[in-house]
Amino acid sequence: MGDVVAEAAAQVSAAVGDRAGEWDRSGLLPLELLRELGEAGRLCAEVPAEYGGWGLSSLLSGEYTAHVGSLCSSLRSVMTSQGMAAWTIQRFGTPRQQADWLPGLTGGRLAAVGFSEPDAGSDLAAMGTVIRRDGDSVVIDGRKKWVTAAHYADVLVIFGRYADDTDGDAAAAVLVPVDTPGVEVRRIADPLGCRAAGHADIGLDGVRLPAASVLGGYGLPLPLLVTTALAYGRMSVAWGCVGILRGCLEAATQHAATRQQFGKPIAQHQLVARHLAELYTAEQVATRVCEHASRCWDEGSPDQVVATVLAKRVSSAQAAAGASSAVQVLASAGSRDGHPVARAHRDAKLMEIIEGSTELCQVLLADHAVSARNRAAPAAPASAPERPS
Ligand code: FAD
Repeated sequence: MGDVVAEAAAQVSAAVGDRAGEWDRSGLLPLELLRELGEAGRLCAEVPAEYGGWGLSSLLSGEYTAHVGSLCSSLRSVMTSQGMAAWTIQRFGTPRQQADWLPGLTGGRLAAVGFSEPDAGSDLAAMGTVIRRDGDSVVIDGRKKWVTAAHYADVLVIFGRYADDTDGDAAAAVLVPVDTPGVEVRRIADPLGCRAAGHADIGLDGVRLPAASVLGGYGLPLPLLVTTALAYGRMSVAWGCVGILRGCLEAATQHAATRQQFGKPIAQHQLVARHLAELYTAEQVATRVCEHASRCWDEGSPDQVVATVLAKRVSSAQAAAGASSAVQVLASAGSRDGHPVARAHRDAKLMEIIEGSTELCQVLLADHAVSARNRAAPAAPASAPERPS
């Protein structure tokens, strides 16, 4: 971890202290902490310095994300949303929109990103939110569900279908201040994990905004818009899972070294040692795949998309299994609601659902494997060669 990141990580450690369990139980992060981190550009670490950002590489941002994830997955989730919103503006916003909006996101304004809908979860092509032009305005009607950080957000990035499209594939993303008439944010009570991440359902009823609120223009292909924004989210979640594993490894090794049963530390019982070995392996595997994917981002490699899906798939599975092992090692000591490993167990399970579920990642990886094989295979001859006599 670079010096500048280590310093910021130490500041976050001090700010979080031992309060993550309390936030989890109350279901709320302190707004002043989010504003403070936001004003320092620490919630969207990759935004360039010219927009008041920290300008970190994907690799350094990943290490920072893992650190925050090791402390509090709710806070890391809010960071992921803020970073995804900023990334969407960076990728699709005009220079004017970037100059208008990015300094706000590195200056304390909070953002969330809405793709999912009641009838469009994994299948985002089924999105029904409609975005239409009306003179100098844009009007949005639809519903979004489970939008992380929406409870805290000042602005939402809302994805929807472009109504004037003739071939049905065109989409748009709109910057929607939450205080715009017609926007309703309803907080979701008692989520399984990341309980303080401010998940909310959103109603958009005749929401009218200036046409300049549409990022980069109308009619961009839906898959391009969604895949681009999700890629950032996947990378961030993958590193967050590395953080979950590091937190679990620390708790499990500390406990196993000190808890005595049958006259010796439980770490010396081979079946417990196996849990520790598997947890260490999980943390190392997740770290390596995330490092590889982040390097692909930093180098602009064509493998960036598949490496990111792989990182998300591997890290979330390792985190879910690793957190379960950590609870097993701590047993009753880790079985209280709000204990770091109990919290990690619930938080990690959700990482297998969001930003492309395990199954959706598997579908993407299988598609990649088949098309990579087809590209590598020699072209089939037009007709079977004659058998030599
Ligand atoms: P469904 O799509 O109904 O899927 C149900 C099951 O079927 C899953 O196991 C899925 O993998 C499987 N499945 C579906 N299709 C296939 C297929 N073709 N092949 C194989 N298996 C399949 N959304 C946002 O827009 N913004 C957010 O910030 C956000 N944050 C979230 C945070 C949390 C904690 C959660 C739980 C959700 C969040 N979501 C967010 C929504 C999230 O993106 C969706 O929950 C996710 O895409 C899955 O959609 P679904 O829940 O409707 O499940």
